[in-house]
Amino acid sequence: MPETIFHVDQSKSMRDQQVPGHNRWHPDIPPGAQARPGDEFRIECKEWTDGQVRNDDSANDIRDMVLDYNHMLSGPIAVAGAEPGDLLVVDFLDIGPASNIEAPQQREAGQGWGYTGIFAKENGGGFLTDHYPEAGKAIWDFHGRNATSRHLPGVRITSNVHPGLAGCAPSAELLAEWNRREQALIDTDPNRVPPLALPPLESGNLMGALTGAARDRAASEGARTVPPREHGGNVDIKNMSIGTRVFYPVYVPGANYSIGDLHFAQGDGEISFCGAVEMGGYIDVGVDLIKGGMDAYGIDMPIFQPGRQEPRYTEFVTFMGISVDEGGDQHYMNATIVYRRACLNAIEYLKKFGYTGEQAYIILNAAPIEGRVSGIVDIPNACCSVYLPTEIFDFDIRPGNSGPTSANRGSLASAG
Ligand code: ZN
Repeated sequence: MPETIFHVDQSKSMRDQQVPGHNRWHPDIPPGAQARPGDEFRIECKEWTDGQVRNDDSANDIRDMVLDYNHMLSGPIAVAGAEPGDLLVVDFLDIGPASNIEAPQQREAGQGWGYTGIFAKENGGGFLTDHYPEAGKAIWDFHGRNATSRHLPGVRITSNVHPGLAGCAPSAELLAEWNRREQALIDTDPNRVPPLALPPLESGNLMGALTGAARDRAASEGARTVPPREHGGNVDIKNMSIGTRVFYPVYVPGANYSIGDLHFAQGDGEISFCGAVEMGGYIDVGVDLIKGGMDAYGIDMPIFQPGRQEPRYTEFVTFMGISVDEGGDQHYMNATIVYRRACLNAIEYLKKFGYTGEQAYIILNAAPIEGRVSGIVDIPNACCSVYLPTEIFDFDIRPGNSGPTSANRGSLASAG
């Protein structure tokens, strides 16, 4: 096991760690650990909400979540010799859930289990929030590399464990550009629910070891962690699993790399916003540098080579969507509408087997479904497809003459 250079005690808030992490992007956040090119080391991570979700049968924690704290990231890690314009090479050597040895009394701290949430429209929302506006939750129990949920009977999924969120710190110039363009979008409809984007927010900030006036200034500018941006960030790509090698643009001396939001499993799209199987845990990484790599390869966003470890699902039922909205209006090649319609078609199908719409929504989030832009050329309809692995169910979901086998399949944890 490589040396742990960023440690978290899963029973404590990220604020109360010996070396705190951070939940905003800002170049002034000082490194919490040091590494050199060629090093391999372990980084421990809190789950993204810093322990706000409990292993119980109520979704009140999702409904009432303080989103200002999210995401709690581990880092920054300074890499000796890294300079703006370089590429930071990061190998994901191993990833796993936090062991429950460290805090056996803390079933709520995120060990040995994970969760998937549907956020209420007024607090976070999600891809299908107009269809499923209420908070809901599924708790997953880990069995090695598989997971089951008492809130989703009949389903067993195999892990494609990965970090949802990682990247190097932005330069002051890049950060200013993020804030400019996102505020311009917000200004087009400032009262929208959910909002169009999330501006810097001092409430709930954690800026690593920064204190006093320096922290307050950085917090007033620091970018929220929710969207992916040029540095990577919250890309939520399920294929960045064990064995993946990522090449990250470097914007500040030392690169100041941070990582978090570990997922035990996820489908393409992570559609409910908290749509992966979220967990606290560890990631072992190796780091290296390609000097001047951004220019040499023409890269201004991360690129990666996927690893060779992933679940071996081979059989699917596949659903399609086109760019016609729920009201029957035709749109021109709008892939967001297309993907939504494909997901809704999959949900309607699963409802015939006894799942609630909310359960089906969670299955599409957490199970390793394949989402594809299949055709984005044939005017006026693009076509997206959602591949649902039949092997995650312990009954046959394929269509046939005997009809769908409907049964009472329970329900998600709900708020109330
Ligand atoms: Zn996540």
